[in-house]
Amino acid sequence: MWSRPTTPGADVVVVNTCGFLGASRQESLDHINQVLALKDKGEVKRVVVAGCMVGNYRDLLEREAPGVDALVSVNDRTRLTDVLRELSNSGELARSIAISDPDARGSVYDDTARLRITPRHYAYLRISEGCDHTCSFCTIPGIRGRFRSKTREQILAEARELAADGARELIIVAQDSTYYGLDTDKRKSLHEVLAELAKVEGVDWIRLMYAYPTQVTDELIDLLAREPKLLGYIDMPLQHINTEVLRRMKRGSTRDTTLRLLEKMRSRIPNLSLRSTFIVGFPGETDAQFEELLDFIREGHIDRAGAFPYSDEDRAESYQLEGKLPEDVIAERHRRFMELNREVLFAANDKLVGTTIPVIVEGRSQDPKYPTLGRSRADAPEIDCTVLLKGSHEPGTLLNARVVRSLGYDLLCEAGRAAK
Ligand code: SF4
Repeated sequence: MWSRPTTPGADVVVVNTCGFLGASRQESLDHINQVLALKDKGEVKRVVVAGCMVGNYRDLLEREAPGVDALVSVNDRTRLTDVLRELSNSGELARSIAISDPDARGSVYDDTARLRITPRHYAYLRISEGCDHTCSFCTIPGIRGRFRSKTREQILAEARELAADGARELIIVAQDSTYYGLDTDKRKSLHEVLAELAKVEGVDWIRLMYAYPTQVTDELIDLLAREPKLLGYIDMPLQHINTEVLRRMKRGSTRDTTLRLLEKMRSRIPNLSLRSTFIVGFPGETDAQFEELLDFIREGHIDRAGAFPYSDEDRAESYQLEGKLPEDVIAERHRRFMELNREVLFAANDKLVGTTIPVIVEGRSQDPKYPTLGRSRADAPEIDCTVLLKGSHEPGTLLNARVVRSLGYDLLCEAGRAAK
């Protein structure tokens, strides 16, 4: 859920909502109601709600956020400018004009010429829409529809445009990036697209997000191993390590297949940085199964891990499962996971002291002794660790930096020569 900071006197505020979990829906509603309060005070004129909640939780929106002027479905976003135009031309509320075909799920949008909200030096590049998996806890396929690959021409045109606009780092996103090509070419061709992206002038770092563990190919592993621009970084949500929990999640993987895949990736990709996310407190997860997950984290298989407490969504298949755990048990498991994860991460960062790591400069920090904020190749923006650097450096500069101290999550570094 996102909206730009609200400017008093704004003609229109657009709130982009997220609807896949109860917590994200509540956050979206809270934000909409804050903006509606500004509208009541006459500080904004119109409020438009867009995103995942519109097509799927319209009743909830109408009940909990009355006063919204228009709704634009996530699958109907190209109509947003028409809706804004109609709203600004119309003296009266024209609520129905925006509620067009909330179930439209067939298209893949062209994302060129977009207004970026990220800093100039990095950009997200979406390579597909929707998802064909049936993970039992997930409502996203019902919200975003079936998997559709963007064409390679679209992806490359967008990458060139982003690079020309100053993006040195591209962050590849999708619901399942490794599924790319299966719908259109009947084969997985993510590695081919990534190889072409690596040739785009001006792009120096490519970060691969949201790989699905049963879809990772040998060709993709080979490319991660040999193409330096891919950083050896992959975000691959595993969700769990216990075979029975994975079966109930309908993930298609097992403990053994996961361990074999990780071993193969570690042995073939030098300096692999593996990020993953997990769900704790899934229905039926026993104490022993949860301890198995903690052991897996303790063994250091994952470089950057995150965990979500299980959220019981009535539209998800797992809602029907038996063995639901009390909220306090789920919260306690989440707390224990995060505490262990922190210990593992801090120990790994301690070991980096004295080494030299590639860093991209993000901007200014709050620390006068280390006034530059950066990020290592092992860290994605906003979710991973940061680096504090001595000296002043321009955002987007690539450096090799020597780690002088670990602060736990973050590293203090001295910048060496520019990497490029
Ligand atoms: S792969 Fe991701 S988006 Fe698709 S169903 Fe599974 S969790 Fe949901």
